[in-house]
Amino acid sequence: MSWIETARITTKEIKEKREGTLVVQEAEELAQTIDCEKSELSEKRSALLYQLRKGQSWLLDQHSRWQSADTTSADDAEFSRVWNGWWELDHQLRTDHGFQGCIYGPDGACPDGFPCQGCTDILTSNIVVQLELT
Ligand SMILES: [Zn+2]
Repeated sequence: MSWIETARITTKEIKEKREGTLVVQEAEELAQTIDCEKSELSEKRSALLYQLRKGQSWLLDQHSRWQSADTTSADDAEFSRVWNGWWELDHQLRTDHGFQGCIYGPDGACPDGFPCQGCTDILTSNIVVQLELT
């Protein structure tokens, strides 16, 4: 093998190697981007979950104040505005972020009277099952 051929092969090998590394680099970058988006998504999810839990305790608090005829409770309009916003947020969490189940965890622990969408679904399916059984 002449030195020219050796050089050619070496250059080819280097080039191939470089392309290989480039591909690997690109793949790594892509994976990082996906990871990044994933963690952004889960960050958004947990932020939404946090807001929902906080909103729910506000609603519960207001509701109990209202029941005890506390004058510091929010008026009807304010209450239903928050309540509607809360449902929208719950809906958004499920449609945009693919969340499923209860906002308090897979077993569902929403307080009575204020179920999230996940708990409502469970309740509805339980009723359906009960209806089918009877
Ligand atoms: Zn729930």
